[in-house]
Amino acid sequence: WTAVDEYTNGHLHNPDTHGNSKVLSEALSNSIDKGLPDISTFPSYGKLLALQAKLAGADYALEVGTLGGYTSIWLATENPNIKIVTLEVNQHHADVALENLRRAGVADRVEIIVGPALETLPKLAEEIAAGKRQKFGFTFIDADKTNNWNYFDWAVKISRSRAVIVVDNVVRNGTIVAKEKLNDPNVSGARNVIERVGKDNRVDAVVQQTVGEKNYDGFLLAIVK
Ligand code: SAM
Repeated sequence: WTAVDEYTNGHLHNPDTHGNSKVLSEALSNSIDKGLPDISTFPSYGKLLALQAKLAGADYALEVGTLGGYTSIWLATENPNIKIVTLEVNQHHADVALENLRRAGVADRVEIIVGPALETLPKLAEEIAAGKRQKFGFTFIDADKTNNWNYFDWAVKISRSRAVIVVDNVVRNGTIVAKEKLNDPNVSGARNVIERVGKDNRVDAVVQQTVGEKNYDGFLLAIVK
């Protein structure tokens, strides 16, 4: 899987021909140097998210779980007109993300809001209702997995029609169907969002399994009707 990623990235995301490769690698190495965990998305997935935002015509995007800003840099560098709001509970992660976003030259288009996302999302909804913000056209959910469904439910409420919502890590090396793992909170968080989205007629959704340099996982992709 890693060899295939290296081969395809070498052609489709070559540092000699793709301008954002350097700032993305610098963001990753700075994040590791500053003690952040190595749990960001990876090149082909960051690019996929950026293309999905582009396909959705999103000029306003939301991310739940900033870490060092790696995915925000993908979204912002591939979509020059996009503005992003990214939610992070950990002040140190937010500080490192700001450094990385500045170095990537996109900090003016990315707003980091520090605090528990479940407290920030209702505030964003109020600001949208008051006409102070527009609805989102693309959302990436990648924070504490036990709250996947709560984040998804909020994301639908504050998204425009035809918006795309992606929930990361819902396959978890296949453990979502392993009986002995059903009490694992990350597994139940993944199953909960899949099962509730399946009954939610505000959206159309699919889960896509993935393999690659970060092993076997998958994401849920939904379109708001
Ligand atoms: N999306 C990031 C990327 O690809 O670069 C990776 C995000 S990382 C997997 C998860 C992040 O969510 C961590 O930085 C963590 O501190 C943050 N987080 C965890 N619980 C949170 C919460 N309740 N509210 C906001 N952020 C949270």
